[in-house]
Amino acid sequence: MGVPTLGCDCAVCASDDPRDRRLRPSVLLRWQEPGQAGGRERVVVIDTGPDFREQALRNGLTRVDAVFYTHSHADHILGMDELRPLSFAVFREGGPIPLYAAPETAEALERIYEYTFSPQATYPTRARVQLHALAERTLVHGVEFLRVPVMHGEMEIAGFRFGRVAYLTDVSAIPVLSFALLEGLDHLVISALRHKPHPSHATVEQAVGWARRIGARHTWLTHIAHELGHEETNRMLPDGIRLAYDGLSLPVNLETAP
Ligand SMILES: [Zn+2]
Ligand SMILES: [Zn+2]
Repeated sequence: MGVPTLGCDCAVCASDDPRDRRLRPSVLLRWQEPGQAGGRERVVVIDTGPDFREQALRNGLTRVDAVFYTHSHADHILGMDELRPLSFAVFREGGPIPLYAAPETAEALERIYEYTFSPQATYPTRARVQLHALAERTLVHGVEFLRVPVMHGEMEIAGFRFGRVAYLTDVSAIPVLSFALLEGLDHLVISALRHKPHPSHATVEQAVGWARRIGARHTWLTHIAHELGHEETNRMLPDGIRLAYDGLSLPVNLETAP
């Protein structure tokens, strides 16, 4: 719901620590594609939630080469239309921006953004985007994105691994087979909503348990509700596990694991 949460005046919502102000979860990955003249910058976004435009402005986003979607919930897809201005530029260069999504997520996007995706769509300034079925592995300008299935309540949704990093949001359980895809990580980003159990989100305690089992060098908790103050929660977390915060930026290794 974002923090401050609308209508709430709890200590975290009223906090003046900038790390207690949280927009909806998303990740931006940038890399330099090898080539002449230093190559070209490539940019991938995971999820375009309702805060996507503000996040793009804060982080100087000027192009998007591809978007991956984790699932169809509002807090992960409702900013798709904000891709419009970025999509016009990419379109001139090499076609629409690919959006990689599982069938259920693609259906939700097609329903909500009917004026963009319908074969009858005629709205002249619609986003130049194209849905692609999310595969087990997707190559985007030389970087491989591996789908990591996780459970979100009753739904199976997508997490992603790229190089030695994994991003798993909205997790309530991790299937045994997915742990095998998470070996040898430098950074794990995983969701932890609050301390109190929730039917479709992990608690801090559950996320810490999985983080220990996965054994990444650094674990960052995301998708954090207003029950968790940044400073006080970090004080109780074990070494190597910390709350993420808006604007957190990490150098990452994108080489594909053998
Ligand atoms: Zn969700
Ligand atoms: Zn969510």
